[in-house]
Amino acid sequence: MNQPKRIAILGSTGSVGRQALEVIAWHPDRFAVVGLAARNDSPAFREQVARFKPRLAALSSPGENGWHPAETRGLGGAEGLVELASMPDADLVLVATSGTASLRPTIAALEAGRPVALANKEVLVMAGHLVMRAARRGGVAVIPVDSEHSAIWQCLRGEAPERVRQVTLTASGGAFRDLPLEELPRVTPAQALHHPNWRMGAKITVDSATLMNKGLEVLEACWLFDLPLERTRIVLHRESIVHSLVEFADGSVKAQLSLPDMRLPIQYALSYPERLAVPSEPLDLARIGSLSFGEVDRRRFRGAFLAIEAARRGASYPAVLNAANEVAVGLFLNGLVRFDQIPEIVEAVLERHIPVREPELEAVCEVDAWARAATHALAPVTLPA
Ligand code: MG
Repeated sequence: MNQPKRIAILGSTGSVGRQALEVIAWHPDRFAVVGLAARNDSPAFREQVARFKPRLAALSSPGENGWHPAETRGLGGAEGLVELASMPDADLVLVATSGTASLRPTIAALEAGRPVALANKEVLVMAGHLVMRAARRGGVAVIPVDSEHSAIWQCLRGEAPERVRQVTLTASGGAFRDLPLEELPRVTPAQALHHPNWRMGAKITVDSATLMNKGLEVLEACWLFDLPLERTRIVLHRESIVHSLVEFADGSVKAQLSLPDMRLPIQYALSYPERLAVPSEPLDLARIGSLSFGEVDRRRFRGAFLAIEAARRGASYPAVLNAANEVAVGLFLNGLVRFDQIPEIVEAVLERHIPVREPELEAVCEVDAWARAATHALAPVTLPA
């Protein structure tokens, strides 16, 4: 029997972090938790620490952290996250935060030679060149966690990269896929947070409704699989059963199918190269009956096209896109801008940006800060439809 794989999790109280701990609890003989990190202290985080007894427990907001069990050492602040991410006794670091705070810890983990299972797409969008360079330097892999990228990765196993003709990412269309277009300006945050297929965090659920999420995922796929943008496409697939497809030179297409349950791609990222049993319900295609596919409507889903345009421009545009979108979504969730203004604001910030080529970490952070300030400055205050 092998030693259990030792896992450190950044973002353990978020949606992916909690589901990763469920997966780990399914296989106590296969996985051990050596590090847990969250943004803030909470009863949920304390419960996780008490249950899994990691060697390190970090809070990115520094504060009173003297409550952990005897076998756990508490860390605080940005430095604590970096220390946890690069801890030598982790076999795999799961980066399960959303947003940009994980950029430095992700790079630190990779440079220290820790493989990273990356659920945070913002990190790759804003600084994919730095993340992949850190992986090359550390001689380790960046393992996809997102369902689409896990699907592509599984389809590519055993295949020659130069024989890939096209990669198709599927998109459910999110909360407003069937809403008459003229009603989009009046939707509320509560409506946007109601995803038809997936349970996920707030920011990504809104990104699914604008399809910005799929645009970010296209950029993520380009970095993870070294793909040119022209070889990617997005297709609407309401059922979220086919998680993505890869077409090869001979016209053959491979797809990966499963029920929309994030625990499945999370488990594959943790257990790779092995496949472990899961206690969840099997896929019953006869019961599902039919699967549908369709084109992506440019007027309804402007977010995806903005992301692809930012990728085409390259340089620091994707970092601006990412930051502007994160702020605009936050403003929408707080009732300060309308849903249909999210892409408008992001586009306006992109238009004002003076690009930086091949930005290093410091320049990426400066661009990020500029884009956040510019978004706040540009965002109109409460414009009722
Ligand atoms: Mg996804």
